[in-house]
Amino acid sequence: MLPYRNLAEAEVVLGRNLTAAETFWFHYSASMPDYLLFYHNIAFLFVIFTLVPLPMAVAELIRPSTIAPFKLQPKVALPPSSFLKCYKVVLRVFFFVVGPLQLISYPSVKLVGIRTGLPLPSAWEMAAQLVVYFLVEDYGNYWIHRAMHSKWGYEKIHHVHHEFTAPMGFAAPYAHWAEVLVLGIPSFIGPALVPGHMVTFWLWIALRQIEAIETHCGYDFPFNPTKFIPFYGGAEYHDYHHYVGGQSQSNFASVFTYCDYIYGTDKGYRFQKAHLAKLREQWTAEEHNGIDISNHIGKIE
Ligand SMILES: [Zn+2]
Ligand SMILES: [Zn+2]
Repeated sequence: MLPYRNLAEAEVVLGRNLTAAETFWFHYSASMPDYLLFYHNIAFLFVIFTLVPLPMAVAELIRPSTIAPFKLQPKVALPPSSFLKCYKVVLRVFFFVVGPLQLISYPSVKLVGIRTGLPLPSAWEMAAQLVVYFLVEDYGNYWIHRAMHSKWGYEKIHHVHHEFTAPMGFAAPYAHWAEVLVLGIPSFIGPALVPGHMVTFWLWIALRQIEAIETHCGYDFPFNPTKFIPFYGGAEYHDYHHYVGGQSQSNFASVFTYCDYIYGTDKGYRFQKAHLAKLREQWTAEEHNGIDISNHIGKIE
């Protein structure tokens, strides 16, 4: 809800003309209560959980040869029923946990001072805040995820998320309700420490979920723009965590790789990666020298 009667009054208070985006925001939010603006997140999350994993799910079912080389676990072909089962659980988690959690979170959003008015934040302000949110959440998530791999945490809660040893996009929010609740805490610490505009908060919630879906999609594309983000884990990094499964003590971080590096929990992953690279190098050399390598095919996954 904006405290101006009209555009002219907003421009007088700001001491300048409104930008096109601010004019749009004025028309959109002027008479909308703040809690309704916050509840947009519920709709965004529903759309993201439903639509973002869809293209890769369709691709996984059709399996065109063009994307086959980028499949992280090529021997695994998920049937349509597992996509459906996964999405049904995600919907249940959405309607009984994610949605209600958003509904009751509004007072905390108000308390920390996430604003809805004018001026809108600059692109730099949004980017800087998003970096803080991602770093803070990644650090908190690392330790919660690591605790979830204790005997009790895994058996009681985290085993649900690990049902898919070869994950796909829909499996990103596929988790025990308690895990969804607990992981909501580090997601909110960043915005609580550095409160920004509601638009930044929307973007944060959306980008974090899209990132999670991308890291669970089961494919690692070399042309993915996330490859340019420093210390970004990506699909290959988290896929390894699912591949190893319950006894995994590697790759706990959700977004970046630095926590696992600092705390030494990426050793298994780095060993496996180096080992596979060495094997590939050796086989390429053998192939180059005319040695039959057909008995090696299928040993790399
Ligand atoms: Zn795990
Ligand atoms: Zn996962």
